[in-house]
Amino acid sequence: MRHGSLFLACSVTLLLVSGPADAQDSSTDYTEPYQQKALEIFRTSISYRTAEGHGQVPELAAYLANQFRSGGFPEEDIHVLPLILESGEETASLVVRYRGDGSSGKKPILLVAHMDVVNALPQDWDRDPFTLVEENGFFFGRGTLDDKMGVVILTTTFLRLKKAAFVPTRDLIIAFTGDEETGMITADSLVTEHRELTDAEFALNADAGGGDLSAEGDAVAYTIQTAEKTYATFELTIRNPGGHSSAPRSDNAIYELATVLKNMESYRFPVRFNETTQQYFEAYGALTEGEIGEAMRRFAANPDDEGATDVLARQPWTVGITRTTCIATMLKAGHAENALPQSATATVNCRIFPGVDISAVQTTLMRVAENNALEISLLGKPTSSPPSPIREDVTEAVTAAVESRFPGTKVIPYMAPYATDGKKFRAAGIPTYGVSGLFIREEDIFAHGLNERVPVSSFFGSLEHWYILLTELSGR
Ligand SMILES: [Zn+2]
Repeated sequence: MRHGSLFLACSVTLLLVSGPADAQDSSTDYTEPYQQKALEIFRTSISYRTAEGHGQVPELAAYLANQFRSGGFPEEDIHVLPLILESGEETASLVVRYRGDGSSGKKPILLVAHMDVVNALPQDWDRDPFTLVEENGFFFGRGTLDDKMGVVILTTTFLRLKKAAFVPTRDLIIAFTGDEETGMITADSLVTEHRELTDAEFALNADAGGGDLSAEGDAVAYTIQTAEKTYATFELTIRNPGGHSSAPRSDNAIYELATVLKNMESYRFPVRFNETTQQYFEAYGALTEGEIGEAMRRFAANPDDEGATDVLARQPWTVGITRTTCIATMLKAGHAENALPQSATATVNCRIFPGVDISAVQTTLMRVAENNALEISLLGKPTSSPPSPIREDVTEAVTAAVESRFPGTKVIPYMAPYATDGKKFRAAGIPTYGVSGLFIREEDIFAHGLNERVPVSSFFGSLEHWYILLTELSGR
């Protein structure tokens, strides 16, 4: 996971809308039994090395399943679903159904987070990544942010609601996946093989969305992730008979590939927009000063405004929200310093706007290349996902949760340029909303990196965030 629009906060001047409401920063300040339970589950969950190659996801799933059993969830509603990956490694998903009384007549809500983490090398960290350490108002450890916090908060919220004898008006279903950071095979299997366990009207993802804090700790905005771009990588190859480098010819694989890449460099994919990106630019434009803020507002009002799209296309943090982008990321060519190259290959990574076919992008690249001898192949099997329609009920519930912690903060839909399990659920027809309870400053984000951390106040604040979300969406 990465967070909504944090990269904006450091790059432009933003008008702040509120001050921090949860300023406590030591876990000893949080004495309620459910808060202490959350801390206990957090500590244990961090201690499992659920990174690829370490095979500990099934153990974490079994531990969490036990928490639900002791919390009063019946055996038939707890499902640990083992899955063997192509590598031979065993992983698992965990599905837990919180039965409602059905009085709303609505389909269930799916609640998504992932149990696996990106690996962390203990020798590189200042503290052991697989021990939860509290220091200076932060919890440190691999997965504190991405995404064991999501797993722990959802688990604890189920236990807390059960203990309070809360009966939802519709079923709530937890679905924890086991390989979000690598293949996303478990998410796939949950919506295909195990659809009877996971079918829902929509999903809330604890691994995306959330609040931005300024350097001073003031709330800037909260973003709901409603769409993801498609990640697709192409390999571009020019072949040539080669020969002796002392006898150069006009045809040369490296020069030809270089020309192809220069053609692609100057090409801009057409401007695209959807409900999410227009609302995003309108709202963020109102919070952003200067030329960029003005361009955002103009683009929101009129996506054909070329002056505005030119400004947004120059900013690395906004260009991807206005169009498909493809960029060369790797090169390899030739086989000897004294031989004409027999092949030259470039890797081009694309982030495709939702609604645009991967094959259409490939066709465009071929056309822009202006070289019929170019071979283009798609790597892997990327998943495209449609944007999820903005829902009033979800937006209202999120707004209530955000208001309780940071009054006056704007709630804004957001399209992510990166991928989460959300795309698997969206692609399977379950609209998905990234609505994590995290509020964090950009400089404190170390997801996937060294010394990953989460503010203590944000961890406990997330408990209230999800409690409000679930009781608003499934209470009386
Ligand atoms: Zn994640």
